[in-house]
Amino acid sequence: MNAARAIDGKAAAAALREKVAAGAREFARKALRKPGLHVVLVGEDPASAVYVGAKEKALHKAGMDGAVHRLPASTGEDELLRLVRKLNADPTVDGILVQLPLPDHLDEAKVLDTIDPEKDVDGFHVVNAGKLAVGKEALVPCTPAGCIRLIKEERGDLSGLHAVVIGRSNIVGKPMAQLLLAENATVTIAHSRTRNLPELAKTADILVAAVGRPEMVKGDWVKDGATVIDVGINRLAPAEDGAKGRLVGDVAYDEAARHAAAITPVPGGVGPMTIAMLLANTLVAAHAREGLEAPTL
Ligand code: NDP
Repeated sequence: MNAARAIDGKAAAAALREKVAAGAREFARKALRKPGLHVVLVGEDPASAVYVGAKEKALHKAGMDGAVHRLPASTGEDELLRLVRKLNADPTVDGILVQLPLPDHLDEAKVLDTIDPEKDVDGFHVVNAGKLAVGKEALVPCTPAGCIRLIKEERGDLSGLHAVVIGRSNIVGKPMAQLLLAENATVTIAHSRTRNLPELAKTADILVAAVGRPEMVKGDWVKDGATVIDVGINRLAPAEDGAKGRLVGDVAYDEAARHAAAITPVPGGVGPMTIAMLLANTLVAAHAREGLEAPTL
């Protein structure tokens, strides 16, 4: 088998962001205000700070209003919930994102469920999870929403294809499976208790790895001609010379690429799509809140 084609998530994300920016301009013309996205960051987790910084830059670049609310790690639950409720009540706010993970003393589920589901651009509220599960229009979690776009661009009609999703988190695995099911794929969800995972993975036309284990999926787990979507972001230990550890996915890329027809690299695959989908969700939420029809993105 020849080496797989690398799926260019950066290019797909750039194209989507351009469409979102055009949609935001059109929205501002009709609603006489820009779409508004507000991000809440509690504490100083360095990875979260990097993600939030990237989101802040992206929202302004897309022609949206918004701000990052940076709160100290010691912030109490009442104070955080007060801020979320204030953003819920603000008519200029279309999207609210509370960056996870939260410090241990804060109840993540309670905070997420306080966000107005219509402004829940991360798609983590139980109302949006429920709507997705029953096939209703919902705000869908950004990472799986980005993955399904890449998969559809790659495979077109997914009817009857076998998709194996490794991972069953509420953030990635479960919504990913729902999205594939909605496209009429035959879906298997695998997790840490799944038996014979390599053999099962090898039956997949579409293999999605969302595990958080560096290079767990080996080349001989991949069916010839499969589409492989690697959601994992894992940093390897720093090198002895002090160089920063390499970023790798959940898939052993070089081995898998010998079997797959197409595969997302890490970095540059799924990652860039996540922020682009966040902007897309904000644009959709803004239109819904103003009673306007959202553009096709
Ligand atoms: P979670 O830790 O919440 O879930 C991991 C899942 O993998 C669980 O369902 C777990 O099973 C399963 N799992 C763990 N070990 C194994 C194993 N040995 N065999 C089979 N399944 C296993 O992670 P997330 O879903 O939040 O994230 C997954 C990965 O995606 C991470 O690397 C994360 O960094 C990355 N990520 C990337 C994003 C992006 O923008 N590209 C966004 C979000 C996440 P069980 O349920 O049985 O414990």
